Amino acid sequence: MRREKSFDKGMYIPHHKEYTNEKNITRLLPYPEEVIIPLNQHIGETVDPLVEPGDRVEVGDKIGDLDEFWSAPVFASVSGVVRAVEERPTGTGCDCLSVVIEADEEQPEFQSSVRKDWQSLSIKELKQLLKENGIVGMGGAACPTHINVSADDPVPNLILNGAECEPFLTCDHRMMAEWADKLVKGAQILFKIIQAQDCFIGIETNKPDAIEILEEKTAGLDNFHVVPLDTKYPQGYKKTLIKAVTDKEPPMGARSAEVGCIVRNVGTTIAIYEAVVHQKPLFERVTTVSGPHTVPEAGNYIIPIGTTVRHILTSCGVDLNNIEGHKVVMGGAMTGTAVNTLDAPLTKSDTGVLLLPEEMVNISGEPGPCIRCGKCVDNCPMFLFPNELSLSAEAEDYHEAERLHATECAECGICSYVCPSLRPVVENIVQAKPEAKKIRRSKNK
Ligand code: SF4
Ligand code: SF4
Repeated sequence: MRREKSFDKGMYIPHHKEYTNEKNITRLLPYPEEVIIPLNQHIGETVDPLVEPGDRVEVGDKIGDLDEFWSAPVFASVSGVVRAVEERPTGTGCDCLSVVIEADEEQPEFQSSVRKDWQSLSIKELKQLLKENGIVGMGGAACPTHINVSADDPVPNLILNGAECEPFLTCDHRMMAEWADKLVKGAQILFKIIQAQDCFIGIETNKPDAIEILEEKTAGLDNFHVVPLDTKYPQGYKKTLIKAVTDKEPPMGARSAEVGCIVRNVGTTIAIYEAVVHQKPLFERVTTVSGPHTVPEAGNYIIPIGTTVRHILTSCGVDLNNIEGHKVVMGGAMTGTAVNTLDAPLTKSDTGVLLLPEEMVNISGEPGPCIRCGKCVDNCPMFLFPNELSLSAEAEDYHEAERLHATECAECGICSYVCPSLRPVVENIVQAKPEAKKIRRSKNK
């Protein structure tokens, strides 16, 4: 009998996927009248604008780039006219230099041209295509993919992350079920780039149709393995996924390549296929729009990057005059960010736009003292002491936070979720992390 794979600790939490897990991928209509495209949608340097107000752009045109390794170009997601290049608010709460495009009333299809001979491209040429087409981690990490695969030495294990363990999100599920051929071809491209020996596709067992179809599609590929995973949070975090799939445990501070693994989200893998085979840059994505009976037309939509949350919600039937007591979250319910403006634009790494009752987003009530119940410690998938870490962060004792391995925190939010004293445990740790990282780096010099 097949046994699903898993990792230690973590939690079984409600999935809330029933609102959209059977909703096929469709394009969000109507097209937005305006898109706001941030020039930094990745970990790394903000790119320079390549357009000015008044310029005409066609969908797929490059509108921002920088000659730096740690960057990824951005592209027009609609055809239209550039109206401004200026600072605009984003979902992170920070302003970012952005290109504002007024969209034409009629939007043409992107004219892709098929590259039939991609197998003849060298590894170097394939890596270059990932950079040129602005591919970044679309599961939330937003690290430029050409950096993830930059090592010259072979990495034996390619792991595709189809866990999608966050509540409400189903866009990866639908892509695996509906676009399995594209996913497998994207995986073959990555397989060549990293010179892998095996490809593992990890999928939580609450997506049985995706497991079945990918088993079918990979049946003739000797080195491809579909791995059913326990439906447990945070199964999709890189370290827990590596542990579940390969039984390897990356040591603290180690990169996944150091234990012979590269992990890529399934949406990113499909974007790689489209970039290499269809010469289509990353200017739109599939995103889940959902909430607990809060979104009349909840679903999984192809949405141009830069579309505002306001347009996305109204296009899905939400009456914005009637959302008091709710928060809009970009990303997943556990790790996403509650936005403070409906003008926040969708970016390359936004897996979801969720309309959630405030009590699902905020810890309601006054936080009390730590009662040392140990629940956060018992469930932390990184084997940390979240209670101690949180206290050290509150005391601004960053050396202690570093000693307690704040840098290893997955920011999964379980510690806050389980805390009976309503303590903002993960929020405190996240606040201490940058300082702890600096201390760690100075120690490693
Ligand atoms: S300390 Fe970090 S990894 Fe551990 S439960 Fe809290 S958020 Fe998750
Ligand atoms: S769950 Fe909350 S109260 Fe319990 S040990 Fe952790 S921080 Fe303290």
